[in-house]
Amino acid sequence: MVTKVLIANRGEIALRIQRACRELGIQTVAAHSTADADAMHVRLADESVCIGPPAAAQSYLNIPALITACEISGADAIHPGYGFLSENAGFAEIVEEHGLIFIGPTAEHIRQMGDKIVAKETIAKLGVPCVPGSDGAVTSLEAARRIAGEIGYPVLIKAAAGGGGRGMKVARSEAEIDVAFGAARSEAKAAFGNDEVYMEKYLSRPRHIEIQIFGDGRGNAVHLGERDCSLQRRHQKVLEEAPSPVIDAETRARIGKTCADAVAAMGYRGAGTIEFLYEDGEFYFIEMNTRLQVEHPVTEAIFGVDLVREQIRVASGLPLSFRQEDLVVNGHAIEARINAESLPNFAPSPGRITAYHAPGGLGVRMDSGIYAGYSIPPYYDSLIGKLIVHGADRETALNRLARALSELVVVGVDTTGPLFMRLLAEPEIRSGEYNIHWLEKFLER
Ligand code: ADP
Repeated sequence: MVTKVLIANRGEIALRIQRACRELGIQTVAAHSTADADAMHVRLADESVCIGPPAAAQSYLNIPALITACEISGADAIHPGYGFLSENAGFAEIVEEHGLIFIGPTAEHIRQMGDKIVAKETIAKLGVPCVPGSDGAVTSLEAARRIAGEIGYPVLIKAAAGGGGRGMKVARSEAEIDVAFGAARSEAKAAFGNDEVYMEKYLSRPRHIEIQIFGDGRGNAVHLGERDCSLQRRHQKVLEEAPSPVIDAETRARIGKTCADAVAAMGYRGAGTIEFLYEDGEFYFIEMNTRLQVEHPVTEAIFGVDLVREQIRVASGLPLSFRQEDLVVNGHAIEARINAESLPNFAPSPGRITAYHAPGGLGVRMDSGIYAGYSIPPYYDSLIGKLIVHGADRETALNRLARALSELVVVGVDTTGPLFMRLLAEPEIRSGEYNIHWLEKFLER
């Protein structure tokens, strides 16, 4: 088992990883920027090392500083969390070259899935259904026009290196293809330094359903059902739930097995998520994330497992601690992402929190690193907490979320908390009849 983990991340996920380590009796090192010296996870860590100034490029993305921090502190493993270096194959390689354990998959699998064109090819060969689209990269406008004609409008032009919903443009008709193709390429170039794009049929009203998988790196893998992340704004998830209101046990077992078999065949190690769009009863693969997801707690709630603990165990060479037949869905869980943002425009709202009260009680989990007196720095993502509720069924979970939100107090900055109160009053949210476009339409109203 690893003995000391350096956490190469910040905010709620740094604290989440630290909690798992502490329960396993593993020492933690918080690697933090100067802007995060007062962060909760830094205060609670066994040790902390400052790795650079506020800008992420010079701190949380600073590989030499992170490796040095391991050497100084004697950490034998690095947990990258999500975002930052979590899906950087080069980083995973460097970590291992320095004799350290990367708590995640192999660099090879990260690289394969990081290129969405390669990912789609790899996954399709393993028998997973994909969105109809171009066969690989689309390199010219003529080709884009021809392929769009073949698959039929509307089409989506997507960045091969994509992430965070960037470098993605819809063309609804031939008249829009020139602009969409050019815009997707330049956005991709600006965001990822790579203008390679591919095309997919644009599904008009799908749900976003993703399957959590876990592999032991030796050809064994299990699935932990699905999460429904259809409530999105600008292709970014806002609220997630598990199980999905539209997936029954038989469908879950079938798509889950397809995914588990695919990653077992790859020899995949650790946690991963296979993302699908789901429309008219069909699943269409869009991408695989080779890391822990923000929304992993809803899966933990319904299966009664600790996914971070499992990541650490598998990275330490231990076998999976659960078999497929041990994983039985229990109840329903919902996560609301609490961002420091001002509604209605979702403008960032950094600043000092003067008062904070976290909700509690039966079935309520608040994952957050904020506290009264804490100043949210303006340099990073605006996610400041995740409110996760668990109940015997969906109705109970929805009511519990409303109850928990009514207890949440954050004074000093604006948060997205009030948005969820509004959402919970909507008939389509109560009934579960929403797709990936529902939230944007609601926000327009
Ligand atoms: P990223 O890596 O940037 O998050 P994804 O491929 O995971 O990109 O897609 C993010 C979101 O974009 C999806 O959850 C969905 O809302 C939308 N999307 C992606 N592909 C399609 C498609 N073919 N049709 C309709 N919407 C799509």
